Amino acid sequence: MHDKIPYLDLPAQLRPLRKEIDAAIARTIDHCSFCLGPDVAQFEKDFARYCGAEHCVAFNTGTSALHVAMLLLGVGPGDEVISTPHTFVATSWAISYVQAKPVYVDIDEATFNLDPRLIEKAITPRTKAIVPVHLYGHPFDLDGVLAVAQKHNLPVVEDACQAHGAKYKGRTIGTFGAVSCYSFYPGKNLGATGEGGALVTNNAEFARRARSLREHGSSVRYYHDEVGFNYRMEGIQGAVLGVKLPHLPAWTAGRQRVARRYTELLQDTPLQLPTQAEWAESVWHLYVVRHPRRDALKKHLEANGVGCALHYPLPLHLQKCYASLGYQAGDFPVAEKAARECLSLPIYPELTDAQIQRVVAVIKDFFKPA
Ligand SMILES: *Cc1c(COP(=O)(O)O)cnc(C)c1O
Repeated sequence: MHDKIPYLDLPAQLRPLRKEIDAAIARTIDHCSFCLGPDVAQFEKDFARYCGAEHCVAFNTGTSALHVAMLLLGVGPGDEVISTPHTFVATSWAISYVQAKPVYVDIDEATFNLDPRLIEKAITPRTKAIVPVHLYGHPFDLDGVLAVAQKHNLPVVEDACQAHGAKYKGRTIGTFGAVSCYSFYPGKNLGATGEGGALVTNNAEFARRARSLREHGSSVRYYHDEVGFNYRMEGIQGAVLGVKLPHLPAWTAGRQRVARRYTELLQDTPLQLPTQAEWAESVWHLYVVRHPRRDALKKHLEANGVGCALHYPLPLHLQKCYASLGYQAGDFPVAEKAARECLSLPIYPELTDAQIQRVVAVIKDFFKPA
């Protein structure tokens, strides 16, 4: 019998850091710095440097950071925001939270990211911003998106929740657009021991206002300049993220090793494999293969003890919550096909070569002629 290969193995990442993390949490509790506090402030500095950005504002979740990004850009009721239908739903929540309307355009077949060639046709006088996603850790076509954005004077928010440290033409993503948003949900490339998020920007005024909005719209306690939110990061999460951040480059290298190995070993299977654009350095949040018999392959993997997942099984324009937007099946054929065919294989820095070979063997077994 083979050992099970989990889709995600958080204990494997925590084990070697456990003493350090326990000490960091204990210190935070000793100091009673529960909400924001010195560890969060230090993490903000370190994460800004990691992204090559001037400012980082820590949040309780990536979703909150995206919501505040919309407010910073002045997106409001009746406005339209162009985004992708093939992403985690929170990308669109930010748009909906400010009573604006998500306007979807289809994705690019090769990278699963928003296709910049389709943006211009979707722009109307009500368009206020563009929110593409660096999906699966692979940067979207920044030059392509920024060219259209600049032509129409539209700000770009990078949803970088899956792409901490990814590079576009050699430069770390996070400061190409007006604002970038990150998530530190436990399963992300950099994960907290709970929820976490961040907003990164080079714009000092955006950073100042983001700090105010995350803390009840105030910069001086009990004086509220505008209606705000309680979107603060917990002190404990700042402390844990501070322990983990120095390991992120090695973890990213580990993910890149796993991706290279899968691509090598799966080359001669009927699977459509993920690619990396020549201008991209992906951080491989996910390794997503495609096949028309995806559901059967998923069952086969699970029956043989290999975890896998779907990112994502139903595009946003066909979700019940967005029925009122009036989209129909067939509106975004590339995204709809991706949703039917995509399958995420286990990928994490701790995955051993033997485990990779086992995943590949189970896949090859599926395609073996009967
Ligand atoms: C995880 C994720 C989010 C939301 O982040 P949370 O921290 O879970 O709120 C938003 N967008 C994308 C693309 C994500 O993967």
